[in-house]
Amino acid sequence: MSHTLYTSLQLYIDGQWLDGGGRQTEAVIDPSTEAVLGHLPHASPADLDRALAAAARAMPAWTATPAFERGRLLKRTADLIRERLEHIARVLTLEQGKPLRESRIEIALTADIFEWMAEEGRRAYGRIVPARHPDLHWSVHQEPVGVVAAFAPWNFPGTTPSRKMAGPLAAGCACILKASEETPGTAIELTRALHDAGVPPGVFNLVFGVPAEVSDHLIGSPIVRKLTFTGSTAVGKHLAGLAAKGLKSTTMELGGHAPVLIYDDVDPAAVARLAVASKFRNAGQVCVSPSRIFVQDGIYEEFVAHFIEQTRAMQIGSGLDERNAMGPLANPRRLAAMGEYVADAREKGAAIRAGGARREGPGFYWEPTVVTDIPASARILHEEPFGPIASLIRFRDEAEVLVEANSLRYGLASYVFTSDLDRATRASQALKAGLVGINTFTVSGPETPWGGVGDSGYGKEGGIEGLQGYMSVKFVSQGPA
Ligand code: NAD
Repeated sequence: MSHTLYTSLQLYIDGQWLDGGGRQTEAVIDPSTEAVLGHLPHASPADLDRALAAAARAMPAWTATPAFERGRLLKRTADLIRERLEHIARVLTLEQGKPLRESRIEIALTADIFEWMAEEGRRAYGRIVPARHPDLHWSVHQEPVGVVAAFAPWNFPGTTPSRKMAGPLAAGCACILKASEETPGTAIELTRALHDAGVPPGVFNLVFGVPAEVSDHLIGSPIVRKLTFTGSTAVGKHLAGLAAKGLKSTTMELGGHAPVLIYDDVDPAAVARLAVASKFRNAGQVCVSPSRIFVQDGIYEEFVAHFIEQTRAMQIGSGLDERNAMGPLANPRRLAAMGEYVADAREKGAAIRAGGARREGPGFYWEPTVVTDIPASARILHEEPFGPIASLIRFRDEAEVLVEANSLRYGLASYVFTSDLDRATRASQALKAGLVGINTFTVSGPETPWGGVGDSGYGKEGGIEGLQGYMSVKFVSQGPA
């Protein structure tokens, strides 16, 4: 039986909503109860071919549509998402688990991403270059890169798909999105808003299926010219390889293992409060989650005491109950991973100072966990935890902590807390990361570039760089007729 507050699960191809028709289906699970929310149809190979053909057919007219008009439709989409915010936020919490308060913020941001890209698409200006010869006229033009294949994961079912919908469409591209099969309802609701706003058939298509089969099919098609993927580094490397075979341009937003440098010139209670809120947001399933928290000697003990006290005070439970600060993990794979990281750390001699276990009963609940005295060989210090485990590490001086912070192949987010301006500047220059927060954990907005370096991927989403990721540059040299 389907949940009445949830949504009807369908594919969206060439302007039509599709289900049934003998398609295979997959159960979508509520992570807070493990109940089935609904059954999601998988796109067949013929469905994927239909989506490809529809995108190829629709793109020329969409590209030719004035950017101003494309922006109007995307702005209308943003308005519809805002009108439907409460419903979409509930769908998100039901399928993903995060507290409703976080889902509301995410859907509000999702609408803002559509609105911002709606505006920015109107400003995809080219430029005039002074020519070297008097009878030539030189100009540089921005053109849509081509049909986009987009893949979004389950941790932010609103904001991540929205970047991969609004960016290509604002640039004048057609797009086929495979959102996560574990959190499909939010992407379906965003697609309803696009459809109701009047985006023409074929310009945007939403599919689901077995991820490897869908990505092989779409990336292997000559129709697709651009791949954008958010997810794990391992899958990103595989998909980048597939794209390379067809020389398709690629944006990869992959994992991270964000260091936080907390110097002893800050108020330990205040920074601990911020760090706890940031660490356990979305149950730690965030690629920019603070995951290696380095604290300087002078305030280490005090900081750890505050951090543990505030972690223990957090109430966990269903995201629909407004009293709860943290919901369940999104799927059983994360529960298993938390179990392995904690067992490994404990075995190697680390101290588990809070949490450290699954909560009994239905639902994928893991207690907010604090680990200290962690040996360098513990997996949690090298592998992205992607869950509610905080690793607190003591450090002595600046040189030592910068080496440690930069010691992994990841480079997505990093954070520095200090009251010394020079130290903050040195750290922001030295940290190998795509995003640096100084005395803040806020490192993203619709208007700012988002993405990492090293094993965290390449290319940007968000900001003017995000729009440019869906454009290619053409140089025109014009002589006399
Ligand atoms: P996973 O590596 O199997 O999958 C990650 C994502 O990629 C999922 O959304 C999945 O549907 C998709 N995927 C997997 N194989 C694919 C394929 N061949 N083609 C297209 N898409 C494919 O792991 P998971 O258990 O879903 O997530 C766990 C890990 O993924 C985490 O540890 C974290 O490192 C990473 N992750 C990162 C982000 C992010 O925001 N960067 C988001 C979700 C997951």
